[in-house]
Amino acid sequence: MWSNKRARELKERAEKVIPNGMYGHESTRLLPEEFPQFFHRAEGARLWDADGNSYIDYVCAYGPNLFGHGYAPIEEAARRQQALGDTMTGPSEIMVDLAEAFVAQVQHADWAMFCKNGTDATTMAMTLSRAHRGRKIILYATGTYHGAAPWCTPRPAGIIPEDRAAIVYYDYNDPQSLEDAFRQYDGQIAGVFATPIRHEVFVDNYEPSLEYAQTARRLCDENDALLIVDDVRAGFRLARGCSWEPLGVLPDLACFGKCIANGYPISAVLGSDKARGAAKEIFVTGSFWFSATPMAAAIETLKQIRTTDYLERTRASGDRLRAGLEAQAAAHGFSLRQTGPSVMPQMLFDDDPDFRVGYAWTVECLKRGSYIHPYHNQFISYAHDDAVIDETLAATDLAFEALKGRMGSLEPHPVLMQLLSAKAA
Ligand code: PMP
Repeated sequence: MWSNKRARELKERAEKVIPNGMYGHESTRLLPEEFPQFFHRAEGARLWDADGNSYIDYVCAYGPNLFGHGYAPIEEAARRQQALGDTMTGPSEIMVDLAEAFVAQVQHADWAMFCKNGTDATTMAMTLSRAHRGRKIILYATGTYHGAAPWCTPRPAGIIPEDRAAIVYYDYNDPQSLEDAFRQYDGQIAGVFATPIRHEVFVDNYEPSLEYAQTARRLCDENDALLIVDDVRAGFRLARGCSWEPLGVLPDLACFGKCIANGYPISAVLGSDKARGAAKEIFVTGSFWFSATPMAAAIETLKQIRTTDYLERTRASGDRLRAGLEAQAAAHGFSLRQTGPSVMPQMLFDDDPDFRVGYAWTVECLKRGSYIHPYHNQFISYAHDDAVIDETLAATDLAFEALKGRMGSLEPHPVLMQLLSAKAA
């Protein structure tokens, strides 16, 4: 029987010693109150919370879990390195192996630099693109997420206009808006940031047009600016290389993070020879950027990416889930919009402007053992096999049924309402 007694106690204790009880996107303040803030353990496709409830995990740590929590070959590689040494006085020799593995795996990459979080990688790419020709301006698609540093964080508190003085916003997937920006800032543009797909929270997700990607490439070439694909979230989920490789559009820099070591902390900037000169100039570092255990985990993750059918299987599982949910929603009289690639599906309901229907449905799923996010895209891992998907679908069917019975009494989420009204003002 699902219970959240311990979760409530933990939240109460956390409120006293951690601002808001938790910060950033992993805070559950915007989620329905039933969503647990703290977890006890994870294995394969499953998570257990502090009350002992188990869930099939569709958030996968917001991306890092690609092969399943605790996937044995990657855990073994990490353990072997841990026994040898982790944070040493310099990097392990395996850093060279890892850089070689990335250069072999990702088409545009001639070199690699490693850091910890996605924000480290995007910030490094920003600095590098400015160093490339000594220019200031970064083109940034309005509303896209590139991390939590002052130049890119989505919340304004503590940010001053100067932090973003040289950031110019353009419209994602709009080639004309890129053309206009290059015309207006002729000779001043250092780099163009693009996420490989539109994967923002609270909105439908989609793949951009080929014309947009090609225009970004062409304008960067014509103007000697760098094209930066932020593959932190989507990297290796859509392709075995950079996510724009299937489009035939190669960036100068790509930022990877999240799943490249299946949950071990490491991120990367992968660059072409064109950007190598600037990469040699910038000073970037961090105390833990060279720890060897995540590098060993990343080498093994890349091997799994090369040698398993993970890409085909996660796609098949995503398609199976999508088809099952579509049929269930229709049978229960709901219109569930499933957008974005099926391996990273976004799930939102029609006629649900304040998200109360989606929130209630995910609570019903949660109580039946499936952790589905009400406003962020989900992730499918290699551990989400047919049996796991079918178990989920059994839960979601009951969740739709329960939702029908609650439709007359749903309330919007109070903290979310505050946020949406502050945005609208
Ligand atoms: N870029 C994108 C596209 C992301 O999705 C994220 C994380 N959600 C980041 C950058 C920042 O990564 P991190 O949270 O590891 O700093």
